Amino acid sequence: MQNKYPVDKYSDHSASLARLQELNSRFAMTNGRPPRAYVQTFGCQMSEEEGEKILGVLLDSGMVETDSQNMADVIIYNTCCVRENAEQKVYGHLGVLKGLKRQNPNLIIGIMGCMTQQPVVVEEIKRSYRHVDIISGTGNINRLPDMLCEVIDKGNRVVELSGTECTSEGTPKAPRNNTKARVTIMYGCNNFCSYCIVPYVRGRERSRSVEDIMEEVKNLAASGVKEITLLGQNVNSYGSERGLPGGQAFAELLHMVCRVPGLKRVRFMTSHPKDLSDHIIEAVATEPLMCNQIHLPLQSGSTEILRQMNRKYTADQYMELLTRIRNRIPDVTISTDLITGFPGETEEQHRESMEFIEKCGFDMAYIFIYSRRTGTPAAKREDLVPEDVVHRRFEQLQQIITDSSYRSSKAQEGTVLQVMHEGPSQSNPNMMTGRTEGNKIVLYKYDKCVPGDILNVKIDTAKTWYLEGTVITED
Ligand code: SF4
Repeated sequence: MQNKYPVDKYSDHSASLARLQELNSRFAMTNGRPPRAYVQTFGCQMSEEEGEKILGVLLDSGMVETDSQNMADVIIYNTCCVRENAEQKVYGHLGVLKGLKRQNPNLIIGIMGCMTQQPVVVEEIKRSYRHVDIISGTGNINRLPDMLCEVIDKGNRVVELSGTECTSEGTPKAPRNNTKARVTIMYGCNNFCSYCIVPYVRGRERSRSVEDIMEEVKNLAASGVKEITLLGQNVNSYGSERGLPGGQAFAELLHMVCRVPGLKRVRFMTSHPKDLSDHIIEAVATEPLMCNQIHLPLQSGSTEILRQMNRKYTADQYMELLTRIRNRIPDVTISTDLITGFPGETEEQHRESMEFIEKCGFDMAYIFIYSRRTGTPAAKREDLVPEDVVHRRFEQLQQIITDSSYRSSKAQEGTVLQVMHEGPSQSNPNMMTGRTEGNKIVLYKYDKCVPGDILNVKIDTAKTWYLEGTVITED
């Protein structure tokens, strides 16, 4: 299957990369050490994966990573704009960087990611944060060597916003985890939910070719990765811009990825309920490597609010889909996203939504307070829900989810679950930790395994957000 969109290959930037490598080795000779790079990501799993690519390019150019921005020679913030507070956080951090730039005028500061795809933000950074050297959007990671050379060689400030019309290939990655990896299979979104800025900053849906995805997956598996999560804003519509029938192309891709030697688990996110077809449900049900877990954003349990959100399904249609999934995959774990305080949401609609969410019996949910994003249709609305009401509704939803998550954990007590071992628990160093297929954290005492091993763990105690158990055997 060929790419329909232009592909920006990392190898096409080899001349700039070679020049940057030369500049970095000169730096190392003068300073007795290579330049240090600091990359901080704000945002979703796709942003996290892009952060790994940004760092991968910097390391490929001869830099070394530092976990302290005070020690860095190059600082890149990889930003998110889905919620206003993520943007405010970045502006706060940028203010701090002004002092660092004063101490070290050679420090290079770059802002990349979703936030800088918005013209209004770009103008604000250009005007008020003159210490920022590189302002670049989501699709330009392969161009990072070109941009850095421009700053170092010519002293220019670089503003590079194009890139939402192509896909990128061949970018080196510096993964945060050696056993689990994320692989982006498509970029952008065509859905235009009325509250969401993603289609405006990440462009229309563009699927990577099967060949490019499979090459990346096989290389990751060969390097020791055991679990792959396929990523996209709406993975179910993978390939649809090439006229491939709904869900079939993605289901075929799942079958292919599950056959890659060395892998033990495959997941995907995020799904759109209108596009999650029977082909995909069947792939999850029949492929042994597929985790029995689906993240299915509901957003609201009120059909009228769903209509105003332009979600293209009703609460009844969502429930019908949920029932279909649970009938075919009885031990499936379902998580969701919810938004509370959408403009105009009445008390009656909120109550209706709560009742529906209770009926869904989610294993897990991410609850968000509506965030007004300039440029989206919902941002024009003036019938905002008062802040105190939104916070009360948020807490009510949180209670429902806490209860249903606890019920789902409690149902696991006494059962034996397969857990992929991760290592010592960060919150309790006396315990080891791993994850179930449903992505629940399990704590146990066992030291005869390495990350990526699958353990059979008998669940002794259920807590709301995690489980405790005893290792019975290794798989
Ligand atoms: S499906 Fe809707 S919420 Fe998700 S990225 Fe696309 S427009 Fe945004």
